[in-house]
Amino acid sequence: MPRIKNPKVHSSSPLVLLRHIRDVMAQAASAQSRLDKVAALIADGFSSEVCSVYLLRAGDILELFASKGLKESSVHKTRLGVGQGLVGEIAGTAEPLNLADAGSHPKFEYRPETGEEVYSSFVGVPILQSGKVIGVLVVQSKKAQEYSADQVEVLQTVAMVLSELAISGQLVNVQEIKIATGGLIAQQLAGMRLSPGMAKAVAILHQPQLVITQYVASDTEHEKERFEKALRSLQESFDNYIQSSGLAPGDEQRELIETYLLFTQDRGWISRMTEAIVSGLTAEAAVKKVQEQLQAKMSQLASPYIKERIQDLEDLSNHLLQILLGKQIVPKQSDLPEAFILVARSLGPAELLDYDHKRLKGLILEEGSTTAHTAVIARAMDIPALGKVAKATSVIQPGDMVILDAEGCNVYVRPSYQIEQAMNVQIRGHQERQTQYEGLRDLPAVTRDGVHISLNVNAGLFVDTQNVLQEGVDGIGLYRTELPYMTSDHFPDVEVQRQLYAGMYEQLPGKRIIFRSFDIGGDKKVPYLQSGEEENPAMGWRATRIGIDRPGILRTQFRALISAAAGKPLHVMLPFIAQVSEFDAAYKLFEQEMALAAIKPSVVKVGMMIEIPSILWQLDALMERVDFVSIGSNDLMQFLFACDRGAVHMADSYDTLSPIMLRVVHEIIGKAATHKVEVGFCGEMARKPLDALALIGVGVRSLSVSASAIGPVKAMIRSVTLSELTEYLRYLLTSSEPTVRQWLAAYARDHEIEV
Ligand code: PEP
Ligand code: MG
Repeated sequence: MPRIKNPKVHSSSPLVLLRHIRDVMAQAASAQSRLDKVAALIADGFSSEVCSVYLLRAGDILELFASKGLKESSVHKTRLGVGQGLVGEIAGTAEPLNLADAGSHPKFEYRPETGEEVYSSFVGVPILQSGKVIGVLVVQSKKAQEYSADQVEVLQTVAMVLSELAISGQLVNVQEIKIATGGLIAQQLAGMRLSPGMAKAVAILHQPQLVITQYVASDTEHEKERFEKALRSLQESFDNYIQSSGLAPGDEQRELIETYLLFTQDRGWISRMTEAIVSGLTAEAAVKKVQEQLQAKMSQLASPYIKERIQDLEDLSNHLLQILLGKQIVPKQSDLPEAFILVARSLGPAELLDYDHKRLKGLILEEGSTTAHTAVIARAMDIPALGKVAKATSVIQPGDMVILDAEGCNVYVRPSYQIEQAMNVQIRGHQERQTQYEGLRDLPAVTRDGVHISLNVNAGLFVDTQNVLQEGVDGIGLYRTELPYMTSDHFPDVEVQRQLYAGMYEQLPGKRIIFRSFDIGGDKKVPYLQSGEEENPAMGWRATRIGIDRPGILRTQFRALISAAAGKPLHVMLPFIAQVSEFDAAYKLFEQEMALAAIKPSVVKVGMMIEIPSILWQLDALMERVDFVSIGSNDLMQFLFACDRGAVHMADSYDTLSPIMLRVVHEIIGKAATHKVEVGFCGEMARKPLDALALIGVGVRSLSVSASAIGPVKAMIRSVTLSELTEYLRYLLTSSEPTVRQWLAAYARDHEIEV
């Protein structure tokens, strides 16, 4: 059979073909008749007898949805599995197939109902949506001809337009096809708890799909100009960032931006988008087309290096789309629903803070590892959050109803009626308990036998003043000052910090606020502080260690704190101290700043956290120096048991109610009493009523917990007789079991203690 290379496409200008398609779409007609007409136009445009559109149905079945040229009776009848036949091969590989003699291809599968045996040449391309195949577009001809690369490109452009039209419901009923983003069925996803609680609300995607409404260009030259302008604006924004950031050459962050800038000059990437514009697409449609192809390629790749590079180009495509569509990735606050759950692949702390925290009801992240800082903020905001939720951004679609159960570590997406009812019961139970706790607002935190327990709130950045300004809450037991450092791209200066701290005094008149000096570094990395690679960042260059090595940074913070306190009491707490000499060094810096202060605080108390085990052997020396201490069980547990506090798979290996931990706390309390030093407890375990019960049983009289735990912990305190409990704890402390949890829970049950 003679081969004819590169046959002339009849309306070879893709522009003409796209315009014809646009005209068909403008006509009032059913979705099916539009699709039939579009198939006929494409066949005509390619001077070929056949054009067929296959779309993916549930169960990964490719169904012939429309055809010009194949037997009409085969439409909606012919079905192929992914990987089956030539069409299935294209769907499976997400790559085009261009064959002069289709019948001789090993994957060819004869379907008598279609009557396709007379057609020799075959060109098919995937129809992609978000990088995933949702169908296949095929052109066939009797002549044994190989289509040119340009023609394959044109067919891909047409496929992209078809994809947009199909997904928007203009060509098919979307309920009929399997949308690549995961379909419409209810799903349950599991995750790892970053912050407790429960919420039900609609989902918002942090990087929503940017919707293109205009894909066929009416003026190609104009589109080229728009594209070039957007590209220039993108390059300029990187350039400006480099100039204004003050980052030195060789700085890691600067190198990253410079690499991005280089990517924006990638010739291959730019010319593929320009070609797509020349073929008749608008600038945004061209960017999207190339992005779709990159996404499809990425899902086929094994090399993490190339994947990362393609990911960078994909991110750049998103930036370009934003510029062209004039949209921001973070939606305007006014566009957000009154209540929503935020879903993201990963999210920086600053990005999280861009959202109105009054409307934000929960957070779902796909990646857990990069979100440690975000998790701290989610807890500070007191919203439920789950990390490591696989496929969250592809399964959850914007506007989906989502139930986030961070207590049970599950996400229910588009829940069924039964699930919703069951979860409603749980959410109501949760809310009822909250209301019940509200009822305790005006009551003191006093045990049945009259012992007052000081209740305090852990906060950072902003504070839920409602919870602090209530009876029985003495103030802020731990204000994590590192959060503003983490959300900034440079060290916050004295004035910025002073305003923040002064704001706390204003919001909480008369309440004690314990400001913990910064615990940055280690796993709470700040971009402007280079510490080099550390194998164990939690035990690395962190907190007061940085402050002693770089006195300027710590003195700046002390200056801001002293000046914010002016005339009012100041409580400063130093974190992560391993030996008293470190306390002495940091205290000296504090004294230097105090000496310089124009207006002194009315009272000054300087304390430290007990969170590194080595300090337990210097307790006497320590108590002689400090005004107060606070036990940080999060770090103390991880170093005492050599068990990473962030390792999910070991989370249940050691219990906070181990008699070892309780004995350590008991010993600290004893030493502090001898030296008349106040002891607080600000680690996470205090937020759980049963754990808090153990703590007051071994002598703790001041607890600091996240705002949402104030109610449950106060309810527990008010239901306990402390003298009896203390007696029982004395006995439990002698246990050599790994945990005393079950004994304590039984005790609480028998004595009707609310835990
Ligand atoms: C702790 O370690 O217990 C603590 C309260 O500090 P952070 O969680 O901020 O390390
Ligand atoms: Mg700590």
